[in-house]
Amino acid sequence: MTDARWRLDGQVALVTGASAGIGHAVARELLGLGADVLLVARNADDLDDVRTQFEEDHPERIVRAFACDLADEDARRELFDWIEDLDCGLSILVNNAGGNQRKPTMDYADDEWRALFELNLFATFELCRYAYPLLTRHPASSVVNVGSVSGATHVRTGSPYGMTKAAVHQLTKNLACEWAPAGVRVNAVAPWYIRTRRTAPALADPEYHDEVIERTPLRRVGEPEEVAAAVAFLCLPAASYITGECIAVDGGFLRYGF
Ligand code: NAD
Repeated sequence: MTDARWRLDGQVALVTGASAGIGHAVARELLGLGADVLLVARNADDLDDVRTQFEEDHPERIVRAFACDLADEDARRELFDWIEDLDCGLSILVNNAGGNQRKPTMDYADDEWRALFELNLFATFELCRYAYPLLTRHPASSVVNVGSVSGATHVRTGSPYGMTKAAVHQLTKNLACEWAPAGVRVNAVAPWYIRTRRTAPALADPEYHDEVIERTPLRRVGEPEEVAAAVAFLCLPAASYITGECIAVDGGFLRYGF
């Protein structure tokens, strides 16, 4: 029998941005470890396909889906009304949905950079707050925020994205200290280049791809499953003494000075 420290049986996880990329891999990993999952993404059809596939792969698990735009304040409230009506409890929150528009600082229109803050930072902050009363009803719950290496150093993402991710890292540290007495651990992961549809256009340029590889000690980009494994570890009872950490999933990128 697998040691219960490495299982999530009986837990319920909310994963945002679960229809594609990292969020999809996270939801699949958590299901495999025994958790039931609540999936959130924008496109209802994509989300429904993912839910159907997960149900086929894990008939013993409960998979539910809620399509909404997390950049919309009302939608965030409706999401938590839905969860409260389900009365299924919540012990894991993975704030993964995020986006970017990459350009020089002076080229952003006001609504463009503000939209990045709304989704990457404000939605994360607000979902943590909405989830808190539910998380505290479980004896050992966990939040994992998906940050980025761009929240730790300059990369060519544009400054608003870097600012939002740095703030997500700091939010993680603050909540970890504040919520530890309530039994809620809060951690983050900081990926470097991961192969998803979001990064496909940039990585399709061979010169750019080679430049990325050149700056990455492990000499390759990452896969969504490699981020999912780190997220899942942070959720496990096995990680019960870890809170306030940000694990770089970056092939060594942040450690590579020269
Ligand atoms: P992706 O584009 O492949 O998938 C994004 C998912 O988020 C989709 O399910 C999409 O529907 C959902 N989503 C996007 N905007 C949403 C919104 N407004 N409301 C609800 N759902 C929304 O993205 P990805 O590459 O898997 O990125 C996931 C997270 O990882 C993001 O927070 C991103 O900043 C972070 N990240 C990615 C990389 C990378 O290289 N891919 C690197 C560092 C950090």
